[in-house]
Amino acid sequence: MQVKGRVLSVASECVPFIKTGGLADVVGALPAALAAFGWDMRVMLPGYRALRQRTAGWAEVWYESDLWGGEGRVLSGHLDGVDLLILDAPHLFDREGGPYGAHSGSGGDWWDNPQRFAALSWVAAKIARHGGLDGWKPDVLHCHDWQAGFAPAYLAYGGRAGVGSVMTIHNISFQGWARAGQLDDLRLPREHFHPGALEYYGNLSSLKAGLVTCDRITAVSPTYAADLVRAEAGLGLEGVIRARASVVSGVLNGVDTQVWSPEAEPVPYSAANLAGKAINRANLCAEFNVDVPGPLAIVVSRLTDQKGIDLLPQVIPDFIAQGGGLIVLGSGDQRLEWQMQELAWNFPGRVGLRIGYDEGMSHRLFAGADAVLVPSRFEPCGLTQMYGLRYGTLPVVSAVGGLADTVITANPAALSAGVATGIAFHPTDVPAFAIALRQLTALYADKPMWAKVQQRAMAQDVSWTASAAKYVALYEGIRG
Ligand code: ADP
Repeated sequence: MQVKGRVLSVASECVPFIKTGGLADVVGALPAALAAFGWDMRVMLPGYRALRQRTAGWAEVWYESDLWGGEGRVLSGHLDGVDLLILDAPHLFDREGGPYGAHSGSGGDWWDNPQRFAALSWVAAKIARHGGLDGWKPDVLHCHDWQAGFAPAYLAYGGRAGVGSVMTIHNISFQGWARAGQLDDLRLPREHFHPGALEYYGNLSSLKAGLVTCDRITAVSPTYAADLVRAEAGLGLEGVIRARASVVSGVLNGVDTQVWSPEAEPVPYSAANLAGKAINRANLCAEFNVDVPGPLAIVVSRLTDQKGIDLLPQVIPDFIAQGGGLIVLGSGDQRLEWQMQELAWNFPGRVGLRIGYDEGMSHRLFAGADAVLVPSRFEPCGLTQMYGLRYGTLPVVSAVGGLADTVITANPAALSAGVATGIAFHPTDVPAFAIALRQLTALYADKPMWAKVQQRAMAQDVSWTASAAKYVALYEGIRG
């Protein structure tokens, strides 16, 4: 297919190489989704230790002699189906530990994260402006979250050279904070240190730098994009989003429908033939030693307050009294892990628990369960409700962000119109969640109606196709 345009995607994570959250899924999925539209995307990543070990023999397409204390080379190659540009700068990235710190959890960030990700952004902007040594030059620079936030700024302040830039917000709560005194060191022009540009509450934020200098801003769902103009969701950046409202839009994430397919599970099933799901359910109950007469719900999540996990101990006892059961797969805050442990102890035979991260198990959970609970306080897009739709595992979600954009709640109007795909509740609190679970139990008891909603959910298009088309339209609008 003829190449219609080129995009340099800049990020700190990309499936299947490095992942701590949903950002990695998006960055990893976009190249193939865009290729279907004739767009050629390369992904630029830091040369973390595990990644640089896989770059032997790759072509050098950029060299930078002074990259915050050492030299940097950009290596170009193809790995696991993705065209990659790896910034090989061992003094910044060849370290033991996670992508942001010695530990993968919070509190252990590297002291030089501002410089590390400034380096990534600096080189990305240079390649965007001049093209690589191999002649590959993008039409668009697509930057993800705070780690790539300085890239649109470097591009704008150093000369755009006809390259358009997009800044995508996956989660605005990480803002790439740096001290004002680092302005010169971070190679940012002093004349732009004012509230309308780089200054952020007296200091710097790489995310803000990207948001004020890029051509287009996207958030990972339309409702999250709209939410960001309010302080509760914008978390300090709401004023910036408001000021740039005319270039802000929301583009939902998609799901890798090859990986997440009920027809690819050990006991396959489909909307037309749900018999396999019943077998998966029985196997799942045996695996967790539970016996559930009503709906079997699951939670597959980071265990944090953002995800509303603290609400579970207050709503699950009533759900169990109604006949329901729950299996939780997750890890995170210790306090919440203990709460989950307590639930499992209090309700043996009805609550199953696995603390940890396990992709294989999460597939078994979606294939076997009746419903997936996602009671997030905020949710930029969310993936598990979309897995739930695809697997006929009805999502019970709080109506926020991407959850509100992907689930049609089973109220009487939606049921009679035949459009319901799950249950959404608002606000994110105990009474609303408890009522939603009662609604779930009642719907489950109405077998013909349950089957209809299940089939409707499974018919939803959660693939990347529609979203990729939106990104292509965005790129077309800003290319030089
Ligand atoms: P976030 O990025 O905020 O954690 P998302 O719903 O966007 O939330 O993405 C989370 C991804 O991580 C999903 O693919 C989900 O299935 C997966 N996940 C989260 N916790 C676990 C776990 N304990 N085991 C397996 N997969 C998990």
